[in-house]
Amino acid sequence: MLVSMFNTALDLIFPITCYFCHRPGKDLCSNCESKYFKPFTKTKCHVCHGILRIPGVYIHRLCVRNSALDGLFATYVLNEHLKRYIGQIKYGFYLKMIDPLKLKVRQTLSNRAFSYDLITYVPLFSQRQRWRDFNQAQHLAQVVDFRALPLLKKFHSTKSQGFLNRNMRKINVNNCFRVINRNAVKDKVILICDDVYTTGSTLNACARVLKEAGAIKVYGYVLAIDELAADA
Ligand SMILES: [Zn+2]
Ligand SMILES: [Zn+2]
Repeated sequence: MLVSMFNTALDLIFPITCYFCHRPGKDLCSNCESKYFKPFTKTKCHVCHGILRIPGVYIHRLCVRNSALDGLFATYVLNEHLKRYIGQIKYGFYLKMIDPLKLKVRQTLSNRAFSYDLITYVPLFSQRQRWRDFNQAQHLAQVVDFRALPLLKKFHSTKSQGFLNRNMRKINVNNCFRVINRNAVKDKVILICDDVYTTGSTLNACARVLKEAGAIKVYGYVLAIDELAADA
């Protein structure tokens, strides 16, 4: 609330300009969007990076044992431009910077032959959310589908993932998520949203607890995927 009032006041003083070319109008103009952001178009298995050939199946049969996620969808490939832009969304309090991406975000999922019962997001540890005043994964999930619900709780703080290597990240996020209401997720197909997918350890940890609570399938959606990163 406070952040959005602050942003509105800022807009009055400083007119909205494109983050990259500073042309007035939107936070991101369509020229810069197509110039700097690379769409993620391939239908690939997020575990082995191999091509998927069966429509409606988003992970290989043999890869299932290496991931709690039954598939992963992304709008963009993570690159330096997108990292900077997402950095603004996350730490610069520019929640509205997700808005110019709305259409592309929604198209990512409407182009796929799959459906879900519930949509949720990776939670923040509550103290951190209070400090930041919003959760960017929650906002992204609400852009995808206004019915997005909190299904998970993060019950102790983890060190900021950015400073840890891959193995440390896995240990860091394991066992820190809990399902809020086990009855709500039982026998459901769930879509869980986060901003980026790098090692996959966070989304996999979330998917694992949702499945332990009885979810049939859990799919992931991220704004951007690091194509070079191996799966957790
Ligand atoms: Zn621009
Ligand atoms: Zn595979």
